[in-house]
Amino acid sequence: MLVDLHTHTTFSDGRLTPVGLVSAAARSGLSAVAITDHDAVDGCLALGACAAEIEVVCGIEFSADDEASEIHILGLGIGPRNVQLAETVRVLRRRRFLRIEMIVDKLIHLGYDLSVDDVFQCAHSPHAVGRPHVAQALVQKNYFGSVREAFRALLHHKGPAYVPHAKLTVRQAVDTIHAAGGVAIVAHPGLIAAPASFAAALAAGVDGIEVFHPQHGAVQVRQYSALAAEKRLLVSGGSDFHAIPGRYPVNPGTFAIPASSVRPLLDRLGLLK
Ligand SMILES: [Zn+2]
Ligand SMILES: [Zn+2]
Repeated sequence: MLVDLHTHTTFSDGRLTPVGLVSAAARSGLSAVAITDHDAVDGCLALGACAAEIEVVCGIEFSADDEASEIHILGLGIGPRNVQLAETVRVLRRRRFLRIEMIVDKLIHLGYDLSVDDVFQCAHSPHAVGRPHVAQALVQKNYFGSVREAFRALLHHKGPAYVPHAKLTVRQAVDTIHAAGGVAIVAHPGLIAAPASFAAALAAGVDGIEVFHPQHGAVQVRQYSALAAEKRLLVSGGSDFHAIPGRYPVNPGTFAIPASSVRPLLDRLGLLK
């Protein structure tokens, strides 16, 4: 039995619809897949009434801020209609929209002819709009030759059009996931910039660690497995699948987790019958 507990759909920055993702996951031989869109549960809600061929876990991936770095927290097995969760998602979406408005405002004052609509037209999903789409809009208007150039000139952390992104704290993300009945997992710890931030996330009441991730090498997998065992935390794993060409893995099932590696978590999610 193979599973994947971390994937993205068109409801954040993935390229497959939830139905397309679940079908492809079933064809690839996966027995269970978790949909974990960035700050969104619309993919889980869209699937709702459809009878899936495999087990589908409703999830979310929150971006949270520690003092030193950004930390992603996965919520698995959440109730997508939970009131606290829905309110948090609504607030995050509103902040995302306001941030784009503020960036566009700065750009207009800097002399660029750009509208919020131009930016949203570049976003694959309105739920996942961000700086890359502002950069794409500037490229489309021939101000820059590439997204990278636009970032370098205007949108980087100290750039003249930069606006900070107000995120949840790790504790808020964990509390929201718990309120919605879910299990909180620190996503891809190997990608957290500051070790102190990982330690802070573990201290914020998470239930588990994403040990298996395409960006983790064998040494990290061993290290995080040992840490999970030492702290009595659940072990999770997923492909972080987006279906973006050139970004590994391109197909579901290419990076799959044996159920035996994450059995206590599957049990907690009610997937072992
Ligand atoms: Zn992530
Ligand atoms: Zn992800």
